[in-house]
Amino acid sequence: MTLRITARFALSCPRHPRYDPECGGQGAIKAGCDICSQMCRIWRSSLALQQEYHDLAEKIVQARRAEKGS
Ligand SMILES: [Zn+2]
Repeated sequence: MTLRITARFALSCPRHPRYDPECGGQGAIKAGCDICSQMCRIWRSSLALQQEYHDLAEKIVQARRAEKGS
């Protein structure tokens, strides 16, 4: 089995179209906007997913090296 994950989307808040979670994070959310807050949570989740992916990829590389070494 091969794990494949692809996600690409573009969203903007109708009230705060310039809000960018990558640049401003949670602190740049105006008036506790629910939409901007959710965008920020999605952004953080995507970072966590990327980190998880890279950690797993490294683990797989190490496992393959160990297999070749034995
Ligand atoms: Zn907003």
